Amino acid sequence: MKEAIHPKYHVTTMTCACGSVFETGSVKENLRVEICSACHPFYTGKQKFIDVGGRVDKFKKKYGI
Ligand SMILES: [Zn+2]
Repeated sequence: MKEAIHPKYHVTTMTCACGSVFETGSVKENLRVEICSACHPFYTGKQKFIDVGGRVDKFKKKYGI
């Protein structure tokens, strides 16, 4: 019988690009997310944090927009 098959599931801190920090259950530690329920456009009506890290700019460059 192997007991190390299941990843360790524990409460970890999730940090969002908007600065929100909240706890969540995960197998990973210190997660970083770009969007959370506090800053998701669906909830805020804004798109303020979508362009974190210039990802949209890269996308535009790639497709010549
Ligand atoms: Zn957020």
